[in-house]
Amino acid sequence: MNDNWPGLSTRCVHAGQPAATPATGACTPLHLSTAYPSGGGENIYPRYFNVLNQEVVAAKLADLEGGEAALVFASGMAAISTTLLACLNPGDHALFQRDLYGGTHQLVVQELRRWGVQVTWVADAVEAETALRPSTKLLYLETPGNPLLRCVDLAAAATLTRARGLRLVVDNTFATPILQTPLALGADIVVHSATKYLNGHSDVSAGVVVASAGLVRTVRAAAMNYGGVLDAHACAQLERGLKTLALRMERHTTNAQRLAPFLQAHPAVARVHYPGLPDSPDHAIACRQMRGFGGMLSFELRRPERVDVFLGSLRLALPALSLGGVETLVCVPARTSHKNLTPEERAAAGIAEGLVRVSVGIEDAADLERDFAGALAVV
Ligand SMILES: *Cc1c(COP(=O)(O)O)cnc(C)c1O
Repeated sequence: MNDNWPGLSTRCVHAGQPAATPATGACTPLHLSTAYPSGGGENIYPRYFNVLNQEVVAAKLADLEGGEAALVFASGMAAISTTLLACLNPGDHALFQRDLYGGTHQLVVQELRRWGVQVTWVADAVEAETALRPSTKLLYLETPGNPLLRCVDLAAAATLTRARGLRLVVDNTFATPILQTPLALGADIVVHSATKYLNGHSDVSAGVVVASAGLVRTVRAAAMNYGGVLDAHACAQLERGLKTLALRMERHTTNAQRLAPFLQAHPAVARVHYPGLPDSPDHAIACRQMRGFGGMLSFELRRPERVDVFLGSLRLALPALSLGGVETLVCVPARTSHKNLTPEERAAAGIAEGLVRVSVGIEDAADLERDFAGALAVV
C-alpha cells in the first residue's frame, strides 16, 4: 500500500471495480455463464476461479488486504482447507494457535493429521520458536481469537517465520482489512470467513485467500482440484457487502467500545473480554497492530446458571451462531464452539460456563445498552 493510494472507505467502494459503461452502469454486471468460447488464451470456467464476478470481488479483496492476488471460495473452511492442503505435504510439521475457530481446530484434528501432517499447538511466537523442528513449514494464527478475543503479536510471529523460512498464515476474519492488515506486518497468506464481516449481512457463505501472486497460483492450482468455488450470484452479493465494509466496521467498533465498559461496570457481570478495554491483557498488542478494536466481545455472567434466563430476556440481540452481521448476535461458547470439551477442558481453556460472546451489530448503541441492561437486570 503506498501513501498516494486512496483511503480504505474509498477502496471498499471503488477497488477492483470495472469501469462504468453506458451498457453496464455503475455496478458489475452479473455473468451467469459457465461456458465460454475456447481458442483464445486462458480457458474460462467457474472452477478455474476466473469468471468476471469472481475476479472483480477478488481484486477488491486483494487491494484491501494489500496483497497481489486473491481467490474467493464457497465458505471460510473451503478457503482454509484448500490453503493448508496446498501448502503442506505428508511428513511436514505445522504450528497452530491453540485457541482457534472451532471448525479450523476440527479440520486440523480430523483431516490434516489423517493426511500425515504433524501438528503442535502454540500460544504465540515465543512458544512457536520452542516448538520448531527441521520439518516445520507453517505457522497458523487467528487474532483477535474466538471467543476470548486474545490478540497475538503478528510482527513478532513474522520475524520468526521469515528468519526460519516458514509460511505465516493468518485468519483475519474478526478484524477485517479495515482494522488489521497482516500482510503488511509480514504474514504470507491471509484467510477469511467472508460469511462474517466481509459480506456483513448474514446472507452469504463465502471464504477468501489473499497472498502474493505466486502463492495464490499455488493455492489456485489445488483449489481447481478441490472445487470449493463461489458462484456468480454470491460473488455479486459479497461485492455489494464489501462496499460498506469500512462504514460498518466503524459502527461495530464504536458500539462495542460503548457496550464493553457498560458491561464491565454491571454488577451481574464478572469479567469482560475486549481488547479495547485499557485493562485488557491484549490492549497493548491490539494498539500496535490494529486500527480499531472491532465489534466482537465476550463477558462472563456472575451467575452462569442464569444464562438461559439472560438469553431469553434479550429483545434485540439474537441468540444465534455466526457473527459479523449488521444485527447483534449472542452465543454461549460452552454450548456451541466448545460444546465437545469436558467442563474441565473448558476451564483449562478459560471458557467459563457463563461466558457469552457478543457480535455487536450496527444498531443504535443506546438501544443495545438498554437491551443488555434489561436482560442483565433479571439475572
Ligand atoms: C466462521 C469462521 C470460519 C469458518 O468460516 P465458514 O464461512 O463458516 O466456513 C473461520 N474462521 C473464523 C475466525 C470464523 O469466525
